[in-house]
Amino acid sequence: MIPSKTILTDDFGRKHNYLRISLLEKCNLRCTYCMPADGITLSPKASLMTADEIFSIARTFVENGVDKIRLTGGEPLLRKDFPEIISRLSTLKTSLSITTNGILIDRHIDVLKQSGIKKINLSLDTLVASKFNSITLRNQFEKVIDNLHLLLNEDFLVKVNVVLMKGFNDNEIIDFIKLTQFLPLSIRFIEFMPFAGNEWDKSKMVSQNEILSEVGSAFTAEEIQKLEDEKNFTARTYKIKGFQGDFGIISSITNPFCDGCNRIRLTANGKIKNCLFSNSETDILTSLRNGEPIENLISESIKNKKKVRAGMVTLEEMNDPSLHFDNRSMIAIGG
Ligand code: SAM
Ligand code: SF4
Repeated sequence: MIPSKTILTDDFGRKHNYLRISLLEKCNLRCTYCMPADGITLSPKASLMTADEIFSIARTFVENGVDKIRLTGGEPLLRKDFPEIISRLSTLKTSLSITTNGILIDRHIDVLKQSGIKKINLSLDTLVASKFNSITLRNQFEKVIDNLHLLLNEDFLVKVNVVLMKGFNDNEIIDFIKLTQFLPLSIRFIEFMPFAGNEWDKSKMVSQNEILSEVGSAFTAEEIQKLEDEKNFTARTYKIKGFQGDFGIISSITNPFCDGCNRIRLTANGKIKNCLFSNSETDILTSLRNGEPIENLISESIKNKKKVRAGMVTLEEMNDPSLHFDNRSMIAIGG
């Protein structure tokens, strides 16, 4: 429970109890919607948070009311000191989860279990091996599928993130949902979002309405059950009657969910982003390294948070690519 008055409460009364920490900017895939074709300029190693610094910053957030931490990246499991980071974070009073592309899950399965991680978000945009190679530019489909099954066999709660793009995987919506018939998976269809260098265009995005219409053409109204959305939800969730798993739609573009936002992000080089779409960042790592308190900086960042999508209220504003140029690429934010 976050106390009613805290540095993590913004001017709209939203309490930010969920911290997403990016562990690194590197990745072992090159998903074209995430990593710009020319790559990104990586932060110098010395400006990335060390395991000690990650723990120290996370502890400050937890002391101020954060009770949910997700590790992301780049690919979080690529960090050599991932076992140390996760083991230390598991001593804090918070739930822990990760978002991963799944390639290195088997290598880390023991430490994930030992650290009490129950929930894992695994990104998989297609069920066709050749399409996987073309969107990630790497040949790792079988590995990801094997690791998805490993997680299910080990009783992890798995959500599969699917970024939908017109002409690429919009014809797989029903195939993904059919996976939930016999597997206890949550599929989450994500509207393609604009970030620096990812050549976003509204015409490439598959909207919430289009997804629901596709579902409606394959299942009857009685079969499609609306589930109660989680508190502070990002996905509006549904289930097909009798299926083991469920599915949801993350509609950041056409139907945002900012009213209940409880998320704050920490980049791998120690900057707070108060919104995924915000170009402004607050450097807390430099202050930490100078031995200064960071609470006032955290508070300032939260106070500056806009009501909706960093001030981009309308779809027209979201559609303006120039408003996204100064933001980071997704790979350097952490999703
Ligand atoms: N490498 C890990 C992975 O892929 O799960 C964690 C980092 S990745 C940046 C986190 C999430 O952001 C992934 O589910 C990915 O699909 C999503 N993502 C990346 N770029 C996106 C975009 N342009 N629009 C929507 N989601 C995006
Ligand atoms: Fe890497 Fe994840 Fe981005 Fe794909 S979505 S390039 S796996 S960080």
